[in-house]
Amino acid sequence: MNTIMPVLFIGHGSPMNVIQENDFTRSLRSIASCIPKPEAILVISAHWLTQGTFVSGAERLEQIYDFYGFPDALYRIHYEPSGSPALAETIRQLVPDGSISADDERGIDHGAWTILKYLYPQQAVPVVQLSLDVTKSEREHLELGKYLGPLRMQGVLIIGSGNIVHNLGRISYDQYDPHPYGWAEEFDGFVKRAIEHHTLDDLLAYQHLLGNTATLAVPTNDHYLPLLYTEAVRQQSDGVKFIHESMQHKSISMRSYLLDAQA
Ligand code: ZN
Repeated sequence: MNTIMPVLFIGHGSPMNVIQENDFTRSLRSIASCIPKPEAILVISAHWLTQGTFVSGAERLEQIYDFYGFPDALYRIHYEPSGSPALAETIRQLVPDGSISADDERGIDHGAWTILKYLYPQQAVPVVQLSLDVTKSEREHLELGKYLGPLRMQGVLIIGSGNIVHNLGRISYDQYDPHPYGWAEEFDGFVKRAIEHHTLDDLLAYQHLLGNTATLAVPTNDHYLPLLYTEAVRQQSDGVKFIHESMQHKSISMRSYLLDAQA
């Protein structure tokens, strides 16, 4: 029987989570046991922004510490999985017109390794990353993502890694501040409902529908875009399971979910 792999969206938040024991990291640690073991993982991370779309083609992904001013403990976290040139090539073939290029130098960024450290701590599953083309519209990202759907039938776990609400300019330095901004909760709730009802048009038209609330929640769309890739490979038969919901720093939604026929 062919297994259709589930799909994840993970709100990765601050890199600090990689050294913390909290509800978010506990949810990551437990979710992998509910998923068939993948042959490979494809991560669409908010932290690989390019002009044109690239896929990581290296045999081994060098770890990128793409953050500044954090404690030394973060720089001692080691996560360097194998890449999969074969999967990179499959992805290139899935998308017409050769519009995805391989980047054989690219390593693994913290949008991927801070979450994979919990999901697959053994580093035994090969990982490939796909970049976000900053010249594309949100609808174009969604359309591109749809070509990746067949990977679910090939044992590939697709993970969008970003944050539904991500405003670093407004963060509280208290990570667990119990009083998130009203606009942060409003936007997070709007997206939650759109995910539950599978209303892709709402996920694309958030700026039009929510105005200033959307501007505050998504001041730049780099952390929002990975969600569109998770939704792009969704099938009608998929159920939605929210595996974690919280707000950190008052303005970062950690909402994470699983799409799965069994959910
Ligand atoms: Zn991030």
